Amino acid sequence: MDRHPNRTTVGTANTGGGGYQPEPYDIPYRAIVARKIENLLVAGRCHSATAAAASSTRVTATAMALGQAAGTAAALAHKLGTSVAALNGIRLREELVAQGAGPFTDA
Ligand SMILES: Cc1cc2nc3c(=O)[nH]c(=O)nc-3n(C[C@H](O)[C@H](O)[C@H](O)COP(=O)(O)OP(=O)(O)OC[C@H]3O[C@@H](n4cnc5c(N)ncnc54)[C@H](O)[C@@H]3O)c2cc1C
Repeated sequence: MDRHPNRTTVGTANTGGGGYQPEPYDIPYRAIVARKIENLLVAGRCHSATAAAASSTRVTATAMALGQAAGTAAALAHKLGTSVAALNGIRLREELVAQGAGPFTDA
């Protein structure tokens, strides 16, 4: 977790307890699907997440994985003749697993 404070802090770099390393986790497809604009995916750092979750999900390797997921979702939606919002996230994950993406915790 690379969590930055939202205000100026006091103390030293050695106070405050430091960060922690979460267990591996999956990112739901809906985190990159725009709610109000049809057929728009939002990959990389600007995906939807809480501040705490984003302290892990916004880093470079994950941003790259989100880009791969968005590109794959766009291609899959086009192939299936549907919108990205209507695309089944599990179907997308199957496609990503076939590409060797992941690992996923539930695949
Ligand atoms: C100071 C700093 C240090 C970091 N250190 C690390 C680290 O050590 N390890 C790590 O994993 N991550 C680190 N990160 C985080 C990581 O760099 C970012 O989360 C990651 O680069 C996000 O990738 P992205 O593709 O989502 O966005 P970005 O890399 O920000 O790419 C977005 C691109 O969109 C372009 N753009 C913006 N607006 C428009 C527009 N209107 N039209 C066209 N193009 C546009 C921008 O020019 C940019 O090229 C750091 C970030 C910062 C700021």
